[in-house]
Amino acid sequence: MFNLLAQVVNIHKRRFPYASFHLCFVDFVDLCFSTYSIIAFVLFIYVSSHEDQIKGIVYGDDIPCYQDQINLYRTYYIAGTRVQPSSSKYEKPLHAFELVFHKKSVLVELEENDVNALPLPTKLTLTSFTDIKQQVLHATTDLNKKEFDILAIVVNCFPRRYLMKMNKWLYELIVMDIFKQTFTFTIWDQTIMDNEGNKLLQQLHEYPIILARRIGGSRYNGVSLTTKFNTTILIDPPYGQKQQLRAWITENKPTLTSFTLRSSSKSGTLISIPVDEEVILIANAESQEDGQTFSIEAKISFPPDQKKYYVLVCSNCGQDVRYPIIMQIHCMNCGEHRMLIPRCQFNVNLEDSSGTTTAMIINREGEKLLSLTAEQIYERTSTKNNFPPMKDLDTAFTNKIFSIRAKKIFTRAPNATATKLYIHSCMEKEYTTHPPTTPNTNNIH
Ligand SMILES: [Zn+2]
Repeated sequence: MFNLLAQVVNIHKRRFPYASFHLCFVDFVDLCFSTYSIIAFVLFIYVSSHEDQIKGIVYGDDIPCYQDQINLYRTYYIAGTRVQPSSSKYEKPLHAFELVFHKKSVLVELEENDVNALPLPTKLTLTSFTDIKQQVLHATTDLNKKEFDILAIVVNCFPRRYLMKMNKWLYELIVMDIFKQTFTFTIWDQTIMDNEGNKLLQQLHEYPIILARRIGGSRYNGVSLTTKFNTTILIDPPYGQKQQLRAWITENKPTLTSFTLRSSSKSGTLISIPVDEEVILIANAESQEDGQTFSIEAKISFPPDQKKYYVLVCSNCGQDVRYPIIMQIHCMNCGEHRMLIPRCQFNVNLEDSSGTTTAMIINREGEKLLSLTAEQIYERTSTKNNFPPMKDLDTAFTNKIFSIRAKKIFTRAPNATATKLYIHSCMEKEYTTHPPTTPNTNNIH
């Protein structure tokens, strides 16, 4: 190795006798590819033997020379980099200076057993979940300038979904710390979705630990986390600090499993819920705080007088209107000429050992329950006018217990027959008193 190194250094000196020459051994601890703004740059951060960190950058044309050359947590000999004062307005600098790697720089990876190979790094500057919450809630300056590094357990994630109104894909995780605090973490970066996102989906049952660097905070839905242009996520990072998390995961497996189950809705979105939340009785639902979601476990049946299982809404803004059939309308809400589209919406009766109540269910949660799309429901109702035979539906749900996330519906004038709850998610509990039967949608004409 040393011969090779000596050769490289000598060749470099001969070719670039006047080049500035910084010579050291480094570990790359993070790598971020970005095409932000006009300059595309690659960000390297290294740790010297004292674990000082400095940012290294590769600009535009030089990126291809370095792109596939760097492995994280391997030691490199580097020389011939340019030094410049730290400049980024969008992140806190690691050091007063940063290194610029260019075509004339030298980068040689050392063998793992080389005497100069550095030990694995230990230095992490992490922000606790409590501090993130405080800082995001009380930030007086631009929230975009805040960034955090976290080491966290991934307790749930969902495949990417398309957000129509923002014309963007997103991928959501729920992360947890050892104090059972959770955050929803939204990933907007395509590369992270493709790589780390897919790996996390496959490894979810093992409760993977991630090191996420330079993430942002948002006040969306309380406080949540979000990727920034230079965020990186490393699964199972080689830091000693993760041992504590791993031990905690082993001790708290039942809590985690229950949380993962409860925080998933079938419509593919994550629900933020308290970790140790108990299931409440229907009789106590009335005393829950407004806007607060809670869990109940109940049997589901359909109100016998219910005729409609859908409403027609404006395809632009989602406003529901009272037209009886699908047609083009002038929407009074958004002012556009648009087609109406059906949206699944109906009431169900919920019953547990303490009592009964009525709840409204809409969109995909409702479609899942009926095993029909809103379009199918509309079509059957409008063409056959006998949808759905209650008997069949009720039979399909007899003896099934559902885990339900719901909240109270705000009503100005409460009366005994009004719908009481709104269902966020509902899924059949894994155990039933009778052997499960597959919902037979063929009976619904
Ligand atoms: Zn509209």
